[in-house]
Amino acid sequence: EPANSTKEIASCVKAAVRVRPFTNNERDDLCQTCVDVQRTSNEIILANSTAFTFDHVFLPETNQEDLYRECVYDMIEGCFQGYSASILAYGQTGSGKTFTMGSGIEYMDPSKEGILPRAIMHIFQRCASYEQEAESKGISIPKCVVSCQFIEIYNENIFDLFNKENNDFRAQKNVDKHVVFENSNGEIAITNITTRFVTTSHETLNCLREGALSRTTAATRMNSVSSRSHAIFTVNLQFERVVSSTSNPNLREQIRAKIHFVDLAGSESLKRTGATGQRAKEGISINSGLLVLGNVISILGDPMKKAAHVPYRDSKLTRLLQDSLGGNSRTLMIACISPVDRDFSETKSTLNYAQRAR
Ligand code: ADP
Ligand code: MG
Repeated sequence: EPANSTKEIASCVKAAVRVRPFTNNERDDLCQTCVDVQRTSNEIILANSTAFTFDHVFLPETNQEDLYRECVYDMIEGCFQGYSASILAYGQTGSGKTFTMGSGIEYMDPSKEGILPRAIMHIFQRCASYEQEAESKGISIPKCVVSCQFIEIYNENIFDLFNKENNDFRAQKNVDKHVVFENSNGEIAITNITTRFVTTSHETLNCLREGALSRTTAATRMNSVSSRSHAIFTVNLQFERVVSSTSNPNLREQIRAKIHFVDLAGSESLKRTGATGQRAKEGISINSGLLVLGNVISILGDPMKKAAHVPYRDSKLTRLLQDSLGGNSRTLMIACISPVDRDFSETKSTLNYAQRAR
């Protein structure tokens, strides 16, 4: 269990907003901007009227490194003290969720890498420094154990992005081979899911790319499944930390933490209700994931509601994130928005949604 000293920063939910730049298309179409970002007051002012305040706000020109340093770095550091973390990207399709979270596949330019590749590098650097620190004290400790899982939730079904046999999965009906349950350690786990044990950042990045490719290639087979599904890359961290005192130079502490990186379904699917047939079915179930997440996060973020029942079990997404949302964990919701006038109503609902997290 983590020490109590940092309790006041535990169990917190933060909300950040990132405004993406104009696309070439939007420039050609002479679109106008409808958002104004006030860095000093952490405000987003929508269409010169409504102001929304967040924990962090990022300009269209904010680079990936600055975003990482400002709001992700400390969460990863916290994992090394045993605090689990969830980092979620929310927003309409095309607003920059995948760019922000990072998939390790699109960018040959390291400065364009999103949160995930940076966090992976960070985690392995930190593991190495713990191992070196122990070694320098002449203490032998086991190596850090790092493992990862990569899943997708589509239509309230869970798919294993590390399992190639699953590539045609979305064509199958009633795929219910993966069930979320609580294991004997009180941790949330999934049945029959692939866990990759990884020893280097290079290896982990390859896992990330493999899963991200499997997501996008399968998505082209069934039209834009990926915009209607949640992708969750999870890193499990386990190691012994030397906490030696002069009286006991060999005293150690077991540290465990779990970090979820979540590229959420496009927020426009929250409103897709008038549709019929399969589309309606998809709309309704994705709807439930984003809806329940909004409810859970608003309860966790509001001290007045602390005693309220948290409806984790109402969707696969929140059930899965249960042991890393609330409790001794930290949550960061990054709302991604488009700056252009024609996306005004989506942007407004995204800001309203993210506002509930604080
Ligand atoms: P989403 O995952 O929300 O559908 P994407 O991440 O795919 O959106 O972003 C849509 C497009 O906008 C991509 O081409 C992406 O590279 C670009 N983009 C998004 N955010 C940024 C940003 N902050 N800076 C530069 N380009 C961005
Ligand atoms: Mg995306």
